[in-house]
Formats: sequence, structure tokens, C-alpha cells
Amino acid sequence: MTLDQATIDRLAATPVPPQRLLIGGAWQDGSGAPMPVLSPIDGSRLTTLATASAADVARACADARAAFEDGRWSARPPAERKKVLHRLADLIDRHALELAVLGVRDNGTEISMALKAEPGSAAGTFRYYAEAIDKIHGEIAPTQANVLALVHREPIGVVGAIVPWNFPLMIGAWKIAPALAMGNSVVLKPAETASLTLLRLAELALEAGVPPGVFNVVTGPGAITGEALALSPDVDVLVFTGSGATGRRLLEYSARSNLKRCYLELGGKSPNIVFADAPDIAAAAKAAAMAIFRNAGQVCVAGSRLLVEASIHDAFIDALTRATTQMSVGNPLQLTSQIGAINSLTQLEANLRFVTDATAEGGELVTGGNRILADTGGYYMDPAIVTGVAPHHRLFRNEVFGPVLAVTPFSTEQEALHLANATDYGLAAGVWTGNLGRAHRMLRGIRAGVVHVNTYGGADITVPLSGTRQSGNGADKSLHALDKYTDLKTGWIQL
Ligand code: ADP
Repeated sequence: MTLDQATIDRLAATPVPPQRLLIGGAWQDGSGAPMPVLSPIDGSRLTTLATASAADVARACADARAAFEDGRWSARPPAERKKVLHRLADLIDRHALELAVLGVRDNGTEISMALKAEPGSAAGTFRYYAEAIDKIHGEIAPTQANVLALVHREPIGVVGAIVPWNFPLMIGAWKIAPALAMGNSVVLKPAETASLTLLRLAELALEAGVPPGVFNVVTGPGAITGEALALSPDVDVLVFTGSGATGRRLLEYSARSNLKRCYLELGGKSPNIVFADAPDIAAAAKAAAMAIFRNAGQVCVAGSRLLVEASIHDAFIDALTRATTQMSVGNPLQLTSQIGAINSLTQLEANLRFVTDATAEGGELVTGGNRILADTGGYYMDPAIVTGVAPHHRLFRNEVFGPVLAVTPFSTEQEALHLANATDYGLAAGVWTGNLGRAHRMLRGIRAGVVHVNTYGGADITVPLSGTRQSGNGADKSLHALDKYTDLKTGWIQL
């Protein structure tokens, strides 16, 4: 798809009507007071979101349960479910630019990235799991001759999905597509600052033929709407991407309610490790800037800790700083912007505090770290690089979820590995080296769900994203994700 500024501008001028909830196939107002949606581009009011109360959420979950029980989707022949999800993927493609622009107005991601990462990847995800529908089936186990042992794979029931604001369509699709593909019903709670594209997705899902009640969307604050979903006795599985603090609460809600299974993806503090023997240092510097600063650092797998071999540290930081200061920050709807807006004022203020604290702790701010373009009314920050960050510093251990890079030197491979693993997280990592043995040793040693070698990012739908340690559990993406949305049942038949 080619992007042109005039089309983007035209779509961006389209008013966004007040938003409603989708419950049981019917659009309806929430019982709570509507919430304003402010655009991070200029702080203007875009529209309002409905607030789903606990009672609204209970109705959505009951409708999802009824839809599951009567088999309108769960018992549909696999080939039919497949057709519907393919139609949905086609509709996402057809409306890709509209969805991308709407999402950018809502969450501030730069448009060139949003188009690819949001509708682009969501359509691909729906296609991938649509294709899996009639290829995933049960087994006959090799057991005694006088027994037929069947292993059935069944949908579980109602899936509650709570998703964040950085890539709502992409992450939403990672959960909704496999859940629906396997025959479950879904109740989705998008983030307060990124609900619009997911509400539009729900509209497209109805148009594609997903039956009413099978895919429901409830919007509202996490502490009201999200909590009610996580406490619902009608939800069998809760899938979540967001902060560790919320993840902990979800486990508590599960314990207090029906012991629903919780799969959590909780972010990271991912090391990007550059050895002096990297094949192309200039390319590594450019990639290191992209690894942390794309989408203004609001990426769960961002390479937010740069570990650099001491012998090349100064030269590398020079190259990295040049690459960083060449990235233009600004209105994310402008094709010329390489870094867009910070999602909310609260998030921007938290980012700036991280930079101030880091320098107070002894780090050196090499570039960036300020609010910029404040006269636009939007939330922008110039990307920050802080060197001399030690393992006990807050910036080394805590996820910022913004454009702030912590740099730490190392002298040996052993020290690099030790530093890489010196956080509570374990989501992603990068290793830059021309030494094959070292690449494999680091790959084995780093505790993370994905380790990139001589690149950073770009892993596609065919491979799992699954955190270790406090980055979470359970895979998104790939066929492995289907395990979260299916139960195994043994049939043991005496012959
Ligand atoms: P972030 O820091 O990325 O905003 P959060 O964990 O706060 O991460 O938000 C991710 C999602 O979790 C959002 O949809 C948010 O509304 C939801 N959420 C926040 N608090 C709660 C809660 N107490 N219960 C359920 N969901 C919540």
C-alpha cells in the first residue's frame, strides 16, 4: 500500500463519533459516564468512549457464554470459521489506511510504522490463524491394543482479553484471532487511550460474519471495566498484555473469583549487546537507535539497555548519537516524522522523571530527554541516551516504556551475559557479533523469549513471543499460542 500525505490528511479530518460498547452483537451506551479521548498529537478532544460498568461487563460475559454454549460459532464447521476469519482479514486490508490513521490519532504512533504494524500485521495474524483452523486436530495415542485412546482438542469457552495502547490492533489480533479460530467467544477490554481501532475491528468482524455475541468489546477504565472482566465467573481464560503491576492484580482477581487461567505479557528491560567484533558497527548503531526509539520507545520488546564493549564504547556512542539526532520527532500523521507522540501526558511526565532520576543517580545524559513541541498541545519528547548506567540504577532495572536508552559498558563476554540477565525481566535481547560460537553461547545464556543476532526486532507471526521470569508466561503468535485457547480431553475407550 502506498501512503500519500493528502489521503492521510483527508482521513485525519474525519470526525470520530462518540463510541459505544458491543455486547451481544448490539452497540449500546455504557452505564458509566463517557470518557473523553484526547489525541496525543495535539491534546485535542477526539471523541468519547463508553464506560462499561461491572453490570455491563457481566452482560457481555453472559452473552459470550451463551454464544459459546449454543454452538453458533464453537460448533460451526471449521471450514466455515476459516472463511469468516479470512473475510475479516480482507476487510482489515480494505480499510487499512482508515484504521491506521484512526489509530495514530488515538495513540500517537508514527503513521509509516502504524500502517505496517497495526492493520498490516492484524490482517496477517487473522489469515495465519484462519489457515490453522482446519489443520489443527486431535490425536490417537499409541496405547494398548484393546483400547482406543483419543486426545480431543476443544475450545475452552469465554476468553477475556485486556490489551494495552502501544499496538492495540497488532496485540489485540495476537489474542483475538487464535481465540476465535479455535471456537471460543471473546470479551475484549482495550486500553483507555487506544480503543478506537479495536471498536472498528469489532464492527468489521460483524460484517465478516462473526456471529453476534461471539466477539464483544467493553471499554472503560482498567480499575472498573478491566477489573470486572478479570473477576467475572463467566471468563475461563484471561489473556493480557500490559504492566507488571496490573498483571499481579489479575492473578489476585483470578484467585478471588474462579481460578481462571491467566496468560500475562508484561514488558521488559531488554539488553541489546554490541561486541567489538560485530560485523558492521555502523549498522549496529543505526539498529540500536531503531531498537529503542521506534514508536517513541513504547514497545514491549524495545532494546532499552545498550551493553557495549568498552573498547568501542565512545566511537559507538558517537555513531548512535548521530543516528538518533537525525531521527525527526513530530506529528505522527506526517510521513516525514520518524518518531511520533508519547501516548499520554501522564506517560510523558513519567518518561521525563526517569531521565532526571537517571542523571541524579550518576548517569550522563548524552542527548535528548526534554519535552518538545509543547506549543502544539501534543506530547512529544526528544529521544534520550544516558551513558554510565550501573546495574543498581533505576534506569537499568525498570521499564520506562518511552524513548530513553540506558547504556552500560562491559569488558568480557562473561560480564556481558551477567549484565544482560541482571534484571527481573526476560522478554527480548539483541547480540551483535561476528563470532558464531559467541552468538550461540549468548543465545543460550540470555534469559529471554527472543534473542536477535545481528539484527533487532522483525520476528514475525510464525514464531512465538513468550516472556520468561517477570516478563510473563504463555506464547503469543505462532501455532504454540493455540495451546492457550484449547483444552485437551482424553477419550479412553475399551474395545
Ligand atoms: P500500561 O502501563 O501499559 O498502561 P496497564 O497495565 O496499566 O499498562 O494497562 C494495560 C491494560 O490493563 C489496559 O487496558 C488497562 O485499562 C488495563 N488495566 C489497568 N488496570 C487494571 C485493573 N486493575 N484491572 C484490569 N485491567 C486493568
